[in-house]
Amino acid sequence: MASYASTDRARSTALCTVITTSAAAVGLGYWLFMSPRSQRFGSFPYMASTTEKVVALSFDDGPNEPFTSQIAAFLRSRSVQATFFQVGRCVERHPEVTLRLVSDGHAIGSHSYSHKFWHCLSWSRQREDIEKGQQAVASLIGRRPRLFRPPWLFRHPWMLQSLRTQGTQPVSGVFGDLLEVFQPRPEAMAARAVAKVRPGTILIFHDGFDARGGPRGRTVAAVKLVVDHLLEQGYHFTTIDRLLGVPG
Ligand SMILES: [Zn+2]
Repeated sequence: MASYASTDRARSTALCTVITTSAAAVGLGYWLFMSPRSQRFGSFPYMASTTEKVVALSFDDGPNEPFTSQIAAFLRSRSVQATFFQVGRCVERHPEVTLRLVSDGHAIGSHSYSHKFWHCLSWSRQREDIEKGQQAVASLIGRRPRLFRPPWLFRHPWMLQSLRTQGTQPVSGVFGDLLEVFQPRPEAMAARAVAKVRPGTILIFHDGFDARGGPRGRTVAAVKLVVDHLLEQGYHFTTIDRLLGVPG
């Protein structure tokens, strides 16, 4: 009996060790490759170092109509400029929306061409996807985007080095609401986003979903609440290139 008990104990201990080690490996992998704040592989700013009450709003995965235009119309009404990290194939779908954002003074960053996760599994495929996305924006607006945000924030040293060589600034940020994909109540999303804001914060929202479109009406409503609240609190808004001093 005693030897069975000790064998069971040994098996339990080994299982716990495997589970703990696996969880630690997953956590470390997430921190290194996908967390918004890790700088382990090089500069990947999620905020600027400043005491000024300034925020940079950013929007990923668009253009996605009518939501991108609804956000743009609201920002225009408040004289607020933001940064839109756009997906190349969505830019090709709605070129007039991207051009209107440019004429409104917003910054256009690139967010890859396809936004497909499997492209992240091969650096050569990912590099092609990044280049194609930048070309899609450049051929429309006449200049290469100087800002790039990788889909899912997934990055590695080779990507960051390659971007820096091209003079492109990789950009992270703070997710306005981690539950945004489920489109919770706008008031809840806005409250969670506002609670994260500090001077110099780069706030991330999504005007699209994985480059496939999808409803973002509640994001539009939440952004209105966030902007008006922060304006009341004395914040002003800027684009990420200006916030970080990236040459235009
Ligand atoms: Zn994205």
